[in-house]
Amino acid sequence: DADKAGEVAVRVAMAVAPKRKKMKNLVDYSELQKIASECKECSDCQRACVNNLPIPPAMVAAAQGDFTLLEGLWDLCVGCGRCDEVCSHGISPHDMIAVAGENRFKEDKFVIRSGRGQIRDTEIRNVGSPIVLGEIPGIIAIVGCANYPNGPQEVAKIAEEFLRRRYIVTVSGCSAMDIARARNEDGQTLYEQYPGEFDAGGLVNVGSCVANSHIAGAAVKVANIFAKRNLRGNFEEIADYILNRVGACGIAWGAYSQKAASIATGCNRFGVPVIIGPHGAKYRRQYLGRSDNDESWMVIDARTGKKVYVGPTPEHLIYAAESVEECIVETAKLCLRPSDNFKGRAVKLTHWIDLHKRYYGKMPDDIEKFVRVEADIPLTMKDEIMPILQKKGWQSREIPDPTLLPRMIRKKKGE
Ligand code: SF4
Ligand code: SF4
Repeated sequence: DADKAGEVAVRVAMAVAPKRKKMKNLVDYSELQKIASECKECSDCQRACVNNLPIPPAMVAAAQGDFTLLEGLWDLCVGCGRCDEVCSHGISPHDMIAVAGENRFKEDKFVIRSGRGQIRDTEIRNVGSPIVLGEIPGIIAIVGCANYPNGPQEVAKIAEEFLRRRYIVTVSGCSAMDIARARNEDGQTLYEQYPGEFDAGGLVNVGSCVANSHIAGAAVKVANIFAKRNLRGNFEEIADYILNRVGACGIAWGAYSQKAASIATGCNRFGVPVIIGPHGAKYRRQYLGRSDNDESWMVIDARTGKKVYVGPTPEHLIYAAESVEECIVETAKLCLRPSDNFKGRAVKLTHWIDLHKRYYGKMPDDIEKFVRVEADIPLTMKDEIMPILQKKGWQSREIPDPTLLPRMIRKKKGE
């Protein structure tokens, strides 16, 4: 009886409310200094902290009435409570951080594009071809929880790097919100700087983390609308199409739930690689490719039925990056696909090499695996790349119409 259940719920809430009012979970702001003065600087809390946060010096400062260090930890704390568990002096560092950062939390206002749900078929029609040919260098999906190793500004940094390079950036859940908390010098968020279309340089908020399905759905739509792959009972062909042709890469930088891990593997089943942050490694599940094993990177050319080496594209399906810089470089690399035409491959290589040089200070050392023909080489990098290829004994190879499914080989009449 829904009416009765509703009445019971309201009556229980009214009866419990006065009792809850008396309960106090957090310490009072005025008590912070006194509690902090009881800290013995043993550092047990810092050792237990998943982010190795410098809690003891923040306690020392707080004991002298300076709460700025404690407040500064608020953005970096993921609220796991481990510090509370280990403190043998009855101090709750997590509560203290929460209270010290309360004002920040209350004043935390930002402009965010509302979650828009699915990507429209008309948008897919416009971008299907440039995505499959590689001329839009990739679809980057920044999704999931807020268990970031170094605070929320990292997801904004990742998003901005790819938006500036005219990738399509889709976001959801906590990441979508945290991206909105970073501002440029004019006070604008990325949502105010970049349009919301599913197109090159667009920043698309699909909605909550359960709306991630719309991002995987966009890749499926490329296979269905652009390439006419049937949707029903055809998972294998669609995944084969996405893996070989749709340069998409998911980033779950702050993944901290089994749900986040299962969303990542769900994307893998569709042929989309995912990068997780350092904390994601605890799921002990990575799908790492062996780039040294050429046999792993053979596909069938659907035109001829011949087996062709395409290089490690994409090299991994789940990869844990240790730093945001590594994540950015690897993301650009994981957008390479066997179907890229030479113009698209040159665009993708430009971004990957440029990012690699910026963050690692040198050329990638496996460049020869990704250059198939001379025209793949970005024009402005030719003088630099050709000598490397010659030194490695590189030879040009075919660009196939790639598939892993023998039944997709197109037979000519009479064969
Ligand atoms: S564990 Fe407790 S006493 Fe030790 S440094 Fe942390 S807050 Fe201070
Ligand atoms: S609650 Fe915050 S400060 Fe405490 S261990 Fe977890 S992340 Fe570190």
